[in-house]
Amino acid sequence: MAGPSKRAGERTRSVHGPSPAMGPLSTPLVFSATFAFPSLEAMNAEQQKGPDSAYYQRVGNPTVAACERRLADLEGAERSLLFSSGVAATAAIFLSYLASGDRVAAMRECYGGTLQQLEYGREHFGWRLTLLSAGDPGGWERAIEPGTKIVHVESPTNPVLRVIDLRRAAALAHARGALLTVDGTFGPPVVQKPLALGADLVMHSATKYLGGHSDLLAGVVSGSQPLMEPLAKARRTFGATLDPMSAWHLERGLKTLPLRMDAIHRNAMSLAQRLEAHPAIERVSYPGLASHPQHALAREQMQGFGGVVAVVVRGGGDGARTFIEALRVFSHAPSLGGVESLASLPAYTSHVYMTASERAAAGIDDGMVRLAVGVEDEADLWADLEHALSKVRVGVA
Ligand SMILES: *Cc1c(COP(=O)(O)O)cnc(C)c1O
Repeated sequence: MAGPSKRAGERTRSVHGPSPAMGPLSTPLVFSATFAFPSLEAMNAEQQKGPDSAYYQRVGNPTVAACERRLADLEGAERSLLFSSGVAATAAIFLSYLASGDRVAAMRECYGGTLQQLEYGREHFGWRLTLLSAGDPGGWERAIEPGTKIVHVESPTNPVLRVIDLRRAAALAHARGALLTVDGTFGPPVVQKPLALGADLVMHSATKYLGGHSDLLAGVVSGSQPLMEPLAKARRTFGATLDPMSAWHLERGLKTLPLRMDAIHRNAMSLAQRLEAHPAIERVSYPGLASHPQHALAREQMQGFGGVVAVVVRGGGDGARTFIEALRVFSHAPSLGGVESLASLPAYTSHVYMTASERAAAGIDDGMVRLAVGVEDEADLWADLEHALSKVRVGVA
């Protein structure tokens, strides 16, 4: 371990946490909804500690808090808070910082569940929504009205992997008096650090890369202590706390986050390059490719490019279906970020709620297949893709 004067590297801190503890190497799993005290004073003192307390589980739990400290350390944040899902994490941000009638600007390319929350807020609380286009960042300056409370962006975006210039977005938001909040699910802490680029809060669906094994549902928000204070209140008020069992599994997953992201990135990069050269593929979207419109920006603000590769298969929706149903190593399933490779059809699943013209404007063709690359042997993944693509070519001919 590095001495006190030198901050340990990311792999070391992923394994050991911010401050290596004596005693058990694995965080004790505390299953206790409530805690006992020798006096009222002792109970009140514990109660004051909020999310770091062992007082009542909806407020704080030691297993959950240990995982939060590890996350905050990896994110470069003063404080992280865990929620029962990614959408619960996003909801806590909006409920904490939008009063009734307030304006929020969000990218129309944001996660569907995020847009549904903003729509819910419009109906129930009179929130006013400005939609920003990821493809037209030049228009944001005009679009974001003074008095806007939150500018909420996602980078890279799902499924076409647009990269948002987070430094510029932060400057724009701050010039309007707004907070910049970032959904960084597609780029977890070892890949990008939005807070270091000027974001005020960053959230992740920890269900994806952070957990990494497709076996738990969780969300996390990180930021400065003062900005996180209202989120702790929203969490205990609405009750979307993460349970200790999931927090323990999540913390175990974090120990291999850098290793997994390395393996995933190497596989995704190699497959994206091979797919780009394949005759049955019309187009590949991956920030690591020189052909990606924001490749230079991605290189500047990311370390590695994540594991999602979007391809457009020749033969439209039929070609994409033929392809995905012929895959054997990639599983046909929603979600991403696990050790196993998954494939999905955005036009028919995550983005089926859009009209065909909205999908076309967003660059989501019927023939698009979203590949969420895992850590398997690259040779096996490529053989699987090549075999499935050979079926498409037969279909086209
Ligand atoms: C999955 C996902 C969410 C929602 O997270 P859940 O854990 O499913 O609630 C939010 N944003 C992005 C980008 C996601 O991929």
